[in-house]
Amino acid sequence: MLSTLRIKGLTTELLDIPIKRPHQFSTEKVADKSFVLIRVQFSNGVVGIGEGTTPGIWWNGESVETMKVVLDRYAAPLLLDEDPAQIEHLLQKLNRRIRGNVFAKASIEMALFDGLGKTYGVPVHQLLGGQNRDRIPVRWALASGTPDGDIEEAQSLVDSGNYVNFKTKSGKEAPEDDAKRNIRIAEGLRGKSTIGIDPNGSWDRITAVKWMDAFFEAGIDFLEQPLPPEDIEGLARLSEMKKVPVMADESLSSVQDALRLAETRAADIFSLKIHKSGGMKNTVKIAGIAEAAGISCFGGTSLESSIGTAACLHAYASIPNLDYGSELFGPSWLADDPVINPLVYEDGCILVPDGPGLGVELDEDKLKKYRRTEQKGALTR
Ligand SMILES: [Mg+2]
Repeated sequence: MLSTLRIKGLTTELLDIPIKRPHQFSTEKVADKSFVLIRVQFSNGVVGIGEGTTPGIWWNGESVETMKVVLDRYAAPLLLDEDPAQIEHLLQKLNRRIRGNVFAKASIEMALFDGLGKTYGVPVHQLLGGQNRDRIPVRWALASGTPDGDIEEAQSLVDSGNYVNFKTKSGKEAPEDDAKRNIRIAEGLRGKSTIGIDPNGSWDRITAVKWMDAFFEAGIDFLEQPLPPEDIEGLARLSEMKKVPVMADESLSSVQDALRLAETRAADIFSLKIHKSGGMKNTVKIAGIAEAAGISCFGGTSLESSIGTAACLHAYASIPNLDYGSELFGPSWLADDPVINPLVYEDGCILVPDGPGLGVELDEDKLKKYRRTEQKGALTR
């Protein structure tokens, strides 16, 4: 029987939430994180919530501001009076009418799944096939700015039992200096912990090939997206060296990318992210291609709050091949969280929520505090 459930409204708002310490990416340093919060009203009174956020506009061209326009102006009219239970149908409709904008589409899908989970009284992972695990290991991103600071930070986090393994950010310095710094950090942590390196596509083939042996000797766990997103052949050459496992992140943003990477043997590990691939369903499909090709998966993050991180958890918990754990540290990296029941970290893991829907509830007082009320930009200064 077709459901009589209907979508009766869709609203969005922007939030700017401070972070605990500034974060150095390859191209910019950030001091707060922006989000678009989306609420979808169902005809049964349920409100599904979703969150859109990006590492920055440099990552794939989307920002919270572009997402808000796409959602308000273009997506909302397509969804109105539709049946929210027909998620695949709605995603296809959006894909036919709105090209790209995968981060915006992922946040809609998130809100639909949350509303459906609440309607049926089940956690979202049950709508995705059930959970294979109730907790997922988390890597913390070291970004203190100095090798000694990173080693010290990692050691104290291991000693306190908060984290076991780590990731570093690269790409700001010259590749040679980056490589040496990472080797120094890995050697400083030898026997105690490991790091994965993420230059966000900023190195070239010669640099990556040249340092591969030294990375292997230093016990580095994985090399994530060393080369520009389009250099699939370069990634394949690095994978062929059979030294440090190569992870694809920016090169992997669709189901089609996953197939191409698998066919060309260009990655040993896929970094999954629900926003970059347009949602939880696509993420599960990508993990299926990885499974068929013998590729491991890693639970990536776009640095979401507890809302988006919960969506990641439901998707990642439902797949069988999450061999490399995750980097779902967004909620503990933010100085505050817009929900009344933030996600829980325990012994180096993050727990999969089991309440209805995403399993998190909005905190209206915090939304009031962090809601953006003025335009941001040079023209409004
Ligand atoms: Mg990455």
